[in-house]
Amino acid sequence: MATEFSIIEQYFKTLTESSKNIDLGIGDDGAIITPPPLKQLVVVTDSSIIDVHFPKNTPAYAIAWKSLAVNLSDLAAMGAEPAFFSLALSLPNELNNNQWLSDFSKGLKTLADKYNLSLIGGDTTKSAILSITITAHGWLDSQQAMLRSGAKKGDLIFVSGSIGDGGVGLKNIGSTDYKNSINKLNMPEPRVKLGLELSSLVNSCIDISDGLLVDLNHILEASSVGAVIDYDAIPLSSEVQHYIDTTKEIIFPLTCGDDYELCFTISADKVSSLKNLGTTCIGKIIGGGGEKITSKHRN
Ligand code: ADP
Ligand code: MG
Repeated sequence: MATEFSIIEQYFKTLTESSKNIDLGIGDDGAIITPPPLKQLVVVTDSSIIDVHFPKNTPAYAIAWKSLAVNLSDLAAMGAEPAFFSLALSLPNELNNNQWLSDFSKGLKTLADKYNLSLIGGDTTKSAILSITITAHGWLDSQQAMLRSGAKKGDLIFVSGSIGDGGVGLKNIGSTDYKNSINKLNMPEPRVKLGLELSSLVNSCIDISDGLLVDLNHILEASSVGAVIDYDAIPLSSEVQHYIDTTKEIIFPLTCGDDYELCFTISADKVSSLKNLGTTCIGKIIGGGGEKITSKHRN
């Protein structure tokens, strides 16, 4: 069983890199960062706990990927460019072995490398259950943040990608009919690039982690507006459509969460700039509060 220090040395130190902003990474009592001039720092934290945020049999590689991806998804929703992160790992004895740790480290490194992210520090402790807390930091051009509070009456509501895959994957673990959904559940792709493109265009944004309706409602409450959603316009993958056809649970994909897509509102005159970004209009912001779903299936 590796000690705390050899775990850090062997599996995490390789993920630290000094770059122009990171003066000191892993190894001392703290990391040292020189912020670039005129940027704002965005800080996000998300914990991932076994059996709460990922199922017990999830591979170590995917656990690491998802733990970082959910943080990057929050940075994407703010329109920030990811820069570095720290990792607090609470590890049960039965996972303290080379196979698990090297798979975990590889999953983390693969996603971190994709966005040129450096691991700058963290904490490693023994624990009864596996828990991973990541704090990720990103840079933002001053005053370019996308907030939940900026939606305006008349805005159109958009989502990226498709909705419901992660939740449908969770309900169908092990089924070959739901391979893509299970893959999206385990290894969501954070919409970092999209977030950066949207930041100068949109009025409000949130990432969908708890479910489209719940998360859209956060925008509505923060902005004191209402929404009309066209159920039939919500983009669904063929697996999610198949799930709805067989179970008749038409609302489930909108409430299940684990999407890690972006939901945003944009004024109608800017919609043409969204071409080729993989986003779909699902409704409109109106006055008043709450959301109303219209649908030819439900009317
Ligand atoms: P301290 O006792 O001062 O808190 P540690 O011995 O816990 O320091 O950590 C030593 C160094 O290793 C620190 O730079 C810390 O940030 C880093 N570190 C510890 N655990 C991790 C981890 N899981 N991932 C990345 N860096 C870590
Ligand atoms: Mg110390």
